[in-house]
Parts: sequence; structure tokens; C-alpha cells
Amino acid sequence: MSAKLLEGKPASEKILAEVAGKVAELKAGGIRPMLAVVLVGEDPASMSYVAGKERACARLGMLSETHRLPASAPIGEVLGLVAGLNVRRDVHGVLVQSPLPGGLDETAVVEAIDPRKDVDGFHPLNIGRMLAGRDALLPCTPSGIIELLAHYGIDPAGKHAVVVGRSNIVGRPLANLLSRKGWGGDATVTLCHSRTANLAHHTRQADILIAAVGKPGAITADMVKDGAVVVDVGVNRVPDASDRRGYRLAGDVEFSGVAAKASAITPVPGGVGLMTVAMLMRNTVVAAGRA
Ligand code: NDP
Repeated sequence: MSAKLLEGKPASEKILAEVAGKVAELKAGGIRPMLAVVLVGEDPASMSYVAGKERACARLGMLSETHRLPASAPIGEVLGLVAGLNVRRDVHGVLVQSPLPGGLDETAVVEAIDPRKDVDGFHPLNIGRMLAGRDALLPCTPSGIIELLAHYGIDPAGKHAVVVGRSNIVGRPLANLLSRKGWGGDATVTLCHSRTANLAHHTRQADILIAAVGKPGAITADMVKDGAVVVDVGVNRVPDASDRRGYRLAGDVEFSGVAAKASAITPVPGGVGLMTVAMLMRNTVVAAGRA
């Protein structure tokens, strides 16, 4: 492998150290930052993400509470829970773990969260403020990727960034942040998706290639330009009988082939995922500081 490994650990630890400092300041002023998480159903990946968020809060001296509802919970119960968290003065961040079980209207739930407590940065008010280049709680994975690139001295300015995947939580906000004027942005951005004709034609032009597809092996070496920076957002559970869990985690990028061509690449796990949690912690202290 010739590519530099863009590990999330040092970059996320730097952010978490800053967050810990803010937590100490807030506590000195009588505020203990608190993240409330709503988990509906028992999706194993969601349960493990929520446990990771609880651990991160505990490590930083922040409070967290997880509200568990059965997958059969009616929408009214979820909305009622969110409404209660919105008005609690001791709760600074509220997030509803996605995906929600089928039948529950995710949009309605996200829009029910008080935008000031929307630490996932998914509420239309925060999205709109982000699009307008104004101060906002930014979505954690996209803003974490911008921080990760910055940590390794990779400046998107003037580069061609190609984002594969246009979800509201990763691809679209990331394309926006990369094309913003100023720090962490100023890239020329192409946004690809499942209807993109000749995907490889676009990905091969990328100076910075970001894969947020949700399909292992979606990006292969022939789709990557020599020397490109490759960010793999994908977290996919691939069946693996040799692993005690019965699966292993794989990104969207065919790692060994792409690493031989790229100048830098993120690992999965240990890359973008760590940044996502760090940015969530940062958003929570920001929200607590404004409360
Ligand atoms: P979504 O399923 O919401 O979006 C996937 C996107 O990929 C869609 O825009 C889809 O296009 C596009 N796509 C699917 N197949 C192809 C293809 N063959 N060619 C080009 N584009 C394609 O996923 P998310 O954005 O929520 O997540 C993407 C991945 O990132 C997942 O593996 C997820 O687990 C992971 N993830 C990781 C996080 C982290 O912290 N590391 C955080 C969030 C997600 P279309 O719109 O046309 O359907």
C-alpha cells in the first residue's frame, strides 16, 4: 500500500479534547451538558451506535440518557417523547437514532426536534442555515469529514471533489460543505448517485473522492485516479464465518486495490465513524453553551 492512512483516532481525539475543555467550563458555570437519545426498535447496528454515543458522553463527563421504545411504538408516542425532551431544561441535545422502523415518518420526527437541540443537524432550519452559509448545528458525518481532511492538511480549495451518494445525512450536506466559500470548502463538487451515467468517468476525475453508498466494493481501483484522496464513509456488515460476530465491517471502497493507487485513504472501521461521534459531542456542548 502506498497511500497514507487517514486514521480518525488522532483527529477525533483532538476534537474530543477541545470538547472536554468546554464541558469543564460549562460545569464550572453550573451546566452539565446532556444528550438525550431516542432509540426505537432493536436494530443491532443502531443499538451499537447508541452505546458508542453513551460511552463518548460518559468519557467526557457529559450526561446522557437513552429512551427506548418498541418497534411497534405509534408515531404519537415518539413525537410525545421528543416534545417532552424539547422542553426539559436539563436536556441540551436530542437525537432520534435512524433508521426508524418502517411505518414511522422519519421526517415528522426530525422536524419535531427543537432546532436548538438538533445535535444531528438534520432539522430543516439547521440544513437551511448551513445552505445559506450561516451558523448552524452541522450534520456530524459531513462536518467530521471536513475536520478529518483538515487534520491531515488536505485543503479542498480548488480541488475537484466527487461525492458518491446523495443522502440527506451524508452526501448532500457534504457536497454543500465542500463547495462552501472559505475554510474546509472552496472545492469544485460533483455529486453522483444511482442514476449517474458512467459513474467511473466521474470518479476518475476526483482529486478527493468520497464514497457514501452503503455497498461494499462500490468503488474499485479502476474508478480512482492515481494520487487521489479517498474517503470511505460506508459501514457495511459483510457475513464472515471466521469472525465471532458472524460478520465484519467493510467500507464502500475496495480497500487494497484503491490504497495502491490513492495518495491517502480512510480505514473502515477507524476512519470517518470516529469523527461522526466526535462532532456529535461538539454539537452537544455547543447547544449546551447556548442554552
Ligand atoms: P443511503 O442509502 O441513504 O444513500 C446511499 C446513496 O448511494 C444514495 O444516494 C444512492 O443513490 C447512492 N447509490 C446507491 N447505489 C449506488 C451505485 N451503484 N452507484 C452510485 N450511487 C449509488 O445511505 P447513507 O448516506 O445513509 O449511508 C451511506 C453509507 O455510509 C452506509 O454504509 C452507512 O452505513 C454509512 N454511514 C456511515 C456513517 C459514519 O459515521 N461512518 C454515518 C452515516 C452513514 P439514490 O439516491 O439514487 O438512491
